[in-house]
Amino acid sequence: MQAADRLRVVLVGTQHPGNIGSAARALKTMGLARLVLVAPEKVPNAESFALAAGAHDLLDGAACFPTLAEAVADCRLVLGCTARSRRIALDELLPHDAAIRAVDEAAAGAEVALVFGRERTGLDNEELQLCHAAVHIPANPDYSSLNLAAAVQVLAYELRLALLAVDGPVPVPEQPASQASHAQLEGMFAQLGETLDAIDFHKGRAPESAMRKLRRLFLRADLDEREVRLLRGILSDAQRMAMLAGRR
Ligand code: SAH
Repeated sequence: MQAADRLRVVLVGTQHPGNIGSAARALKTMGLARLVLVAPEKVPNAESFALAAGAHDLLDGAACFPTLAEAVADCRLVLGCTARSRRIALDELLPHDAAIRAVDEAAAGAEVALVFGRERTGLDNEELQLCHAAVHIPANPDYSSLNLAAAVQVLAYELRLALLAVDGPVPVPEQPASQASHAQLEGMFAQLGETLDAIDFHKGRAPESAMRKLRRLFLRADLDEREVRLLRGILSDAQRMAMLAGRR
């Protein structure tokens, strides 16, 4: 069982069924599969399924509980997401740190819950009492309340990064090759000159004019090291073919 399978996202008292669907989609895009509902105002309906797009399976599989206490009864870590910093005696974590803690616990075999509140009023104090820590997305302090599914997406993304760090390295995009050096370009120009001779490109004309134009063309192209190697590979093959043709 993977760490991701021990992470559940709990939506408490959700008022808009559409948000349940959007939250399911947000989770599935980040490779998370466990959605839990606590006393939603309306059970998932056609609007939920429409907004879930391809994440119907999460809606179909969503467990539903009457209270948050029951939804997290088997959890060793419960993190409550709040739009406002409240005067509650709870540590407040950034999403990044919350995700690392959640994934560490899950990787160690514990069940973990991330809890999200109602659109209008968030989580009540009694629900926050059930949480080990609060998570606050450091949004605009004058307008800090994200749409429920948007908040789920932010946390799901952080969980994904933390999971990738545990389960395997995040694939690093191929490094851009560095620009070819002056010496590498001169080496290529020398080989180009030899190749043009070998294939009898100049046909008795002075080679300088063509070489000047070709130098200008390749310098303008701002070649990187890989591109120079590619072009030199082509020139080597052309030289080899010219030599074989000469032998015949
Ligand atoms: N008016 C409510 C806002 C609820 S938004 C309130 O002030 O609490 C619905 C849910 O989305 C919240 O309960 C919370 O779980 C999550 N959420 C929204 N904005 C958030 C933020 N900036 N940080 C963490 N969670 C947030």
